[in-house]
Amino acid sequence: MSIGLKDAVEAMEYDELMGIKIDLESGGFNIKKMITQKIREKEKKHEKKCAVCSSDIDSCRSSNYTLIFGPEDFKKKATFCGMDCLEYFIAKMRDMSYRKMESVPQKKEKIE
Ligand SMILES: [Zn+2]
Repeated sequence: MSIGLKDAVEAMEYDELMGIKIDLESGGFNIKKMITQKIREKEKKHEKKCAVCSSDIDSCRSSNYTLIFGPEDFKKKATFCGMDCLEYFIAKMRDMSYRKMESVPQKKEKIE
């Protein structure tokens, strides 16, 4: 099930909302901790669909792969239904980073 933040807030009782408000006003330490914990929990699970071919991921299959990449505070996650989709994704990423390198202006030779 997927609900937005607005729906979650809508479903909360007055006391819960007050608790969150008080926490936010004092730096949001508890909320940050709660969200970080949930993210860690979800990082361990595969996504529901393959990032390459969009086929449904059968969580019982041993050929599933999940890749977590990016900086610590903005990690991305992608799940693949098999080695071929994972390889395709990596090849595409490699291709993109090569192209990025090519577009970086090269140090120019001094013209005399
Ligand atoms: Zn796939």
